[in-house]
Amino acid sequence: MGNPKAFLTIHRKEAGYRPVSDRIRDYGEVEQTLNPEDRRLQASRCMECGVPFCHWSCPLGNKQPEWQDRLFKNDIKGAYTLLTATDDFPEFTGRVCPALCEKGCVLNKIHEPVTIRENEAAIVERAFLEGYVKPYVPKHRTGKRVAVIGSGPAGLACANQLNRRGHSVTVFEKNEAIGGLLRFGIPDFKLNKSIIDRRVALMTEEGVEFKPGVEVGKDIAVEDIVSDYDAVCIAIGAEVPRDLKVEGRDLKGVHFALELLQQQNRVNAGREISRDDRISAKGKNVLVIGGGDTGSDCVGTANRQGALSVTQIEIMPKPPEGENPATPWPYWPVVLKTSSSH
Ligand code: SF4
Repeated sequence: MGNPKAFLTIHRKEAGYRPVSDRIRDYGEVEQTLNPEDRRLQASRCMECGVPFCHWSCPLGNKQPEWQDRLFKNDIKGAYTLLTATDDFPEFTGRVCPALCEKGCVLNKIHEPVTIRENEAAIVERAFLEGYVKPYVPKHRTGKRVAVIGSGPAGLACANQLNRRGHSVTVFEKNEAIGGLLRFGIPDFKLNKSIIDRRVALMTEEGVEFKPGVEVGKDIAVEDIVSDYDAVCIAIGAEVPRDLKVEGRDLKGVHFALELLQQQNRVNAGREISRDDRISAKGKNVLVIGGGDTGSDCVGTANRQGALSVTQIEIMPKPPEGENPATPWPYWPVVLKTSSSH
């Protein structure tokens, strides 16, 4: 810990979003970045608690205090090395993770947790910029061939781990481009697709083979996959949206979230959608049912498409602001954690 008293004197400072008037008509990323000195000061706020709750709040078990310290000391290479010891793709998590770590941060007690997620994104982006991210090609290949079916975050992480252990990995993706939900589910204003392309290019250099536009079971027989590979990992997701069986569900203009989001991401990527198939909120009063991340993505997309109005409803009660005294540890923040959409 570079500055043991920084948390007393330096306040949480978020990079913030581009102004509404600026971002509302485009699909560029909305989040801004802090300058390196401010970012370093934000990292200095980490107290390196004896029991760092951020560790176990993070689904990946990231070692946040260790890399905050390296970031504070401007040791970007060291910070990146520590970060990637537990996190395959910090450039994704640093952008779209709901940051459970920050809900667990002891400084959340005073409602000013360390800006862990933003710091994570800053480390990986500087690591790319300063040339610390290099292709890792295993010295020895095991001779084992693995097929990974599905190229979303799970498939990519699986391929990355197996390739680094020396196995020869082929990733099959039925869609026209690699990334799964990262590419087609998450709007560009939260995750620019060039970030995925950059990682896929790196993994290709490292030896992973990608086969987009190939549907296993249709374009290639399951029997061939099983006989050609030593192991198969299925990482295709459920792809079954939760339906709402209510009167009017089958009316024109009622869509699942991903029908809208996938299509808009494809339009942004320059693909043609026929007039009849195009889903657009332009000039319409839009109702979004569901208040989670996906609902929020639909709100942002509908606004950018030019909706007249957008209303969002959520079945759950509003989560409490900050720490709720009626919900003591260990239930807070685990049970009542909020997401970035809330
Ligand atoms: S932002 Fe997400 S992935 Fe990153 S440390 Fe926090 S919980 Fe873990």
